[in-house]
Amino acid sequence: MISATGYNSSDLLKVLDELDQGIVSHTKWLKGLHRSLICCHEEPNEEDIKSDAHYTCQFGKWYYEEDHPELDKLKAFVEIAAQHKKMHDLARQVLLKELKKESINIDDYDAFMDQAINFKLDVRRLQRQIIEEVCVIDHLTGAWNRHSMTLRLTQEHERVVRNGNCSSICMLDLDHFKEVNDQFGHICGDRVLKRLVDICTTNLRSYDSIFRYGGEEFLICLPDTEAVDAFPLLERLRQAIETESFCHKDGERVSITASFGISHMSRDKSIDEVIIEADQALMLAKNEGRNCVRLWSV
Ligand code: GH3
Ligand code: MG
Ligand code: MG
Repeated sequence: MISATGYNSSDLLKVLDELDQGIVSHTKWLKGLHRSLICCHEEPNEEDIKSDAHYTCQFGKWYYEEDHPELDKLKAFVEIAAQHKKMHDLARQVLLKELKKESINIDDYDAFMDQAINFKLDVRRLQRQIIEEVCVIDHLTGAWNRHSMTLRLTQEHERVVRNGNCSSICMLDLDHFKEVNDQFGHICGDRVLKRLVDICTTNLRSYDSIFRYGGEEFLICLPDTEAVDAFPLLERLRQAIETESFCHKDGERVSITASFGISHMSRDKSIDEVIIEADQALMLAKNEGRNCVRLWSV
């Protein structure tokens, strides 16, 4: 199931802060290094001469000693290790010359400084990737947000137009959700929304996606699936929601149901038209008693 839940947005925001601190410590380190090289010819820091300087500097400790499971998937995070090591290797070369009172070749100095600048740009690139991850997630539920929905549906629609295959979309709306909030409070309501996305994630296929359309409404995109084939899939999901015990308040079980409306994409319909059709099918499901799945038909 393609959902954003693999990423924990508060963890990623924490990492952004840590990378900011990384840039500050990197700049301080550069300052110290220049004091040795240029201004005062101070003794270089012993640690910077050692071959494992890239492990023992502040960034190295953060990178190698702390766990970052949520970052391992980001290309920029993996690639930054080699850039960082190269920068320390070049720094060592110039510092050793300084230590031996040899003159430092301008090319060696430039190579080191260029690498130091590249490293800083790499940290910024990593931060940008993290921000992109955070920006596509609905933070309350872990579903993809409206912004990423537009991008994803546009891609899927282009594929349908190009290949002539059929993809379905489904609008899901929780039934009488206002009553859940009224009876059990908004915090409980929030938990229900989050749990609902988890249930969708486990009950749909790995290539389906769920987006928070707004409030207690979600849009599910089912690639390469005719509307009639989407039906049993969503019927199974409907049953899973119906039988779930969402949370308990004062010993009382909170259960909820959902209504579903399905429509399919095609070459001759815009994405907006397909969403309107799925919405009409959802209205039908609501009018026919809720807790059911309905297909759009002319
Ligand atoms: P229906 O079966 O007709 O869909 O009834 P409903 O009560 O679900 O629909 P209605 O549109 O009357 O109410 C939607 C409720 O969803 C009201 C609103 O407070 C709640 N809601 C929307 N977003 C959130 C949210 O992020 N958290 C919580 N706890 N509640 C939310
Ligand atoms: Mg509702
Ligand atoms: Mg609604």
